[in-house]
Amino acid sequence: MKYAEIIVDVVNSEVDKVFDYAIAEDQLVNIGDMVSVPFGNRNIVGFVLRVKDASDCPIDRIKYVSKVILKQIIKPEIIDLIHDMKTKFYLKYIDLIKLVVPSEIRNGQIKTQYSRLIRLSVDFDYNKYLDGLRKNSKNPFLVYNYLINNVAEEDYTTLCKMFGASCINKLLTDGFITESKVIKNRLNVGEIRENKQVVLNSYQQNAVDVLTNSDYKTYLLYGVTGSGKTEVYTRVIKDCLKNGKNAIMLVPEISLTPQMVGIFTSIFGKSIAVLHSGLGAGEKFDEWKRIYDGDAKIVVGARSAIFAPIDNLGAIIIDEEHDNSYVSDSNPRYETYKVAQLRAKYNNCPLVLGSATPNIDTFYKTEIGEFQKLELPIRANNKEMPSIEIIDMLQEYKSGNTSMFSAKLIQELSNTIDRTNQAMVFINRRGFSSFVSCKACGYIPRCPSCDVTLSYHKECSELKCHYCGNRFRSFTRCPECGSDEIKYGGVGTQRVVEELNKLFPNIPVFRMDVDTTKTKNGHAKILSEFSKTKPSILVGTQMIAKGHDFPKIDLVGILDADLSLFFGDYRANEKTFQLITQVAGRAGRSDVEGRVVLQTYFPKNYVYNLVANYNYKKFYEKEINLRRTTNYPPFAEITRVLISNENEDIARNVTRDLFAIFKKLKVKYKEQMYFLQAMQSPFSKLKNKYRFQIVFRYNITLEDEILNQIYNTLNNTKTQKCSIFVENNPLSLS
Ligand code: ADP
Ligand code: ZN
Ligand code: ZN
Repeated sequence: MKYAEIIVDVVNSEVDKVFDYAIAEDQLVNIGDMVSVPFGNRNIVGFVLRVKDASDCPIDRIKYVSKVILKQIIKPEIIDLIHDMKTKFYLKYIDLIKLVVPSEIRNGQIKTQYSRLIRLSVDFDYNKYLDGLRKNSKNPFLVYNYLINNVAEEDYTTLCKMFGASCINKLLTDGFITESKVIKNRLNVGEIRENKQVVLNSYQQNAVDVLTNSDYKTYLLYGVTGSGKTEVYTRVIKDCLKNGKNAIMLVPEISLTPQMVGIFTSIFGKSIAVLHSGLGAGEKFDEWKRIYDGDAKIVVGARSAIFAPIDNLGAIIIDEEHDNSYVSDSNPRYETYKVAQLRAKYNNCPLVLGSATPNIDTFYKTEIGEFQKLELPIRANNKEMPSIEIIDMLQEYKSGNTSMFSAKLIQELSNTIDRTNQAMVFINRRGFSSFVSCKACGYIPRCPSCDVTLSYHKECSELKCHYCGNRFRSFTRCPECGSDEIKYGGVGTQRVVEELNKLFPNIPVFRMDVDTTKTKNGHAKILSEFSKTKPSILVGTQMIAKGHDFPKIDLVGILDADLSLFFGDYRANEKTFQLITQVAGRAGRSDVEGRVVLQTYFPKNYVYNLVANYNYKKFYEKEINLRRTTNYPPFAEITRVLISNENEDIARNVTRDLFAIFKKLKVKYKEQMYFLQAMQSPFSKLKNKYRFQIVFRYNITLEDEILNQIYNTLNNTKTQKCSIFVENNPLSLS
């Protein structure tokens, strides 16, 4: 007798239990199969994780697998990945299965669509047939001419529209034409970009040489914007295909950056499949299926594409590796590069992380030899970087300008308009309303024990530290200078548009933010209108920062740069540096010279001065020293255990019980455990669940040891149906 270990798909189950089912003699059940099994008094879907010869389940209680629904829907490599992620990231099996088999595949409701392709039949006597027709029926002639002169084959529906369904059906019955069924691809890849042939410079060539001759290893492709990283990626992927291998290429928020897909399609044609959250269900199904069946060799996609069912990988590439979208911040929580490492290791292939402004963590790993750095220090297109000018908004305020635009920005905007070019005005959304400052003196409240900025919580009018849980009453009068001009958060896109309309009444102003882009292809519509209108201004949030390539933008205005800098997060400097570099990169992309006007209340801040000089290395040096002295990542690991339940008392009690056990780690590791505390989460109630958290910060060398102890504790403690998640180095502790 054989037994299958099966994870069942029960909604809302907080238990992550694997059940044993027996396999009948005449049944073929294998690892990775999606099956139907009896559960309670009904049949439900399950996934086979293991097949074994013995079971601990008593023989009189064990049930049989009812039937196999889909054979090997999870491939062996992905099964391995699930087990690895389960142990490394403390995730639930069922959540992992949902990641690797999208619902479009699991629910069985979407089917492959076929088109009927019509062509002339071979060995058919056309002369005889056409001669035998009555005089007034000329359609068969036209069909014949169309298929022989214009296209060899045509879609059935199209032909019916052209020549009438009755004619086409008759010709089919008579054997005049033949039909074949082909899979119809619902995804329309869109604009194809022309692909220039370039000769690689020596830095690019070196990177390609190293990467195409590499076993498993993680690389940082550190290249300034415009250094030709994309060209390196495409060469590496071409080499994979030449060797009969496949590749995964991840890009951030792909629905916002159709350009990359365009470039890839122009080079690799139908070999690529695209996976991201913006796809419709049918499109997603088709793309996934093409990958699964081996018809697609290259997957281009957003974060979740790292789980694509593609075999035989020759390279994995993560472009703009510093992008926040690579860290999932809701369940299941994981860091994409760590998953990519598991897959690269399995396939013994290189993992490439590309960026002009790498994460401090990533850059540090190249310094200590964990990753290998490949550098592209010069711009491939020989263009100057846009100049960045820093404007002191406190000075503006003191000289009587209380508007959101500095005199300089208004001047530059009208220059751009005079040149019939385009401008972008960028508004920070990060930490949008979670930030309080004094307009008169620039004072910003910080946590006395953690030295991060306090976040403003409107719902309770409190200032909270997201690291230690400290809470303070918000203020209406500045504690430093007494002014009552307190600024809560930044301005919204709508206000900015209104102000611009007043300043430049005849100039079209476009707005791009979450509200204006809710509909499918909403981004594309705005961007396409904007690109056709000159002069014009595009106002937007983080959405406009990424990847767009508009040749006529010669000015970028950054309002509220400080919102990023003072967001309550130890990575605030780093994120600011990355964001500004990225936004600035939208200006001056072709023949026009680019300028950036950056407005701040803290013009002396070293982050701004280094970013204005594009001096990433100097910035890295300063930042890494700061992290070393303050014991933050990469020298420490921050782990958060998040506990939630609909019942506040239950959540609080479970948190207290867990904390009582975890506290012993503080005793054991002493000063190596820099921080360990239980607290209510800054967002104490979300989606009707009360949230508590235990935050750890400890020496990085203890990572595996401490995580093991945390996971063990969680596995062996009664947690009363609370949802419990563990996150390492989360993007936010809210
Ligand atoms: P990155 O991704 O590093 O910012 P891109 O790959 O977008 O840079 O390249 C910037 C521009 O330089 C593109 O227009 C690209 O076609 C061009 N380019 C890349 N490599 C070369 C090269 N070796 N010679 C000339 N132009 C190049
Ligand atoms: Zn003040
Ligand atoms: Zn604090």
